[in-house]
Amino acid sequence: MRKFIVVGNWKMHNTIAESIALAKAIKDGASDFKDGVIILAPPFTALSNVGDAIKGSNVFLAAQNVYYEDKGAFTGEISPGMLKDIGCAYVIIGHSERRKYFHEQDNDVNLKVKKALTAGLTPIMCVGETDEERLKGIMQDVVGRQVKQGLNDVEKIDNVVIAYEPVWAIGTGKVATPAQAQEVHAFIRGILKDLYGITADDIRILYGGSVTKDNIGELIAMEDIDGALVGGASLKADGFLGIIQNISGKK
Ligand code: PEP
Repeated sequence: MRKFIVVGNWKMHNTIAESIALAKAIKDGASDFKDGVIILAPPFTALSNVGDAIKGSNVFLAAQNVYYEDKGAFTGEISPGMLKDIGCAYVIIGHSERRKYFHEQDNDVNLKVKKALTAGLTPIMCVGETDEERLKGIMQDVVGRQVKQGLNDVEKIDNVVIAYEPVWAIGTGKVATPAQAQEVHAFIRGILKDLYGITADDIRILYGGSVTKDNIGELIAMEDIDGALVGGASLKADGFLGIIQNISGKK
């Protein structure tokens, strides 16, 4: 059985004190979860404290971004080695908000994925089409390009987690239907199989976009969905724990 992955992306929310309280509540509430991995991605300022709060539990630490150089004159950036040093095991790369507001391109995503892997971090690489691209009928072109370019020259593809996050579903309350999400997950698996011979059990693909405890059950029931990347609903312990609870024992 493929293990589930549930990621809470806190984005630019929570003070250090709020982050510690939320992390502790999630750690305590999810201590019985045996079906997979829980990952929290607090803002950079709270990584160290959240790392301490979850130490020794089944909850892991992720950063929301990383740079692709080891060190140097890159004011404001953080290297993969620095993330390892602070206790991160995972890093979110290429989130649509980074692509939209900070103009990250597929090539940046690719450099970050490769560098993260070299440092021993597991990248959670985000892909997904906008509303306009879906309406134009180019969803597969966009997602296919993001997957192929993001993974270009990556040696250990099976160490990458992919998150399919349709941009139109992020923070909008407009979740993809299970059938829509499954279609794209299967499409991504098809690319990975054709290009790299990766089979379904070798790689985890998460769905993200307005996931809540009320809709996760039908999404996780889909064959190719291995978990969720959660934004808004990860900011309250009961909402996030409800998602974890509704995933437990589902496959
Ligand atoms: C996200 O931040 O990746 C996300 C999916 O946000 P939300 O769950 O709020 O749509």
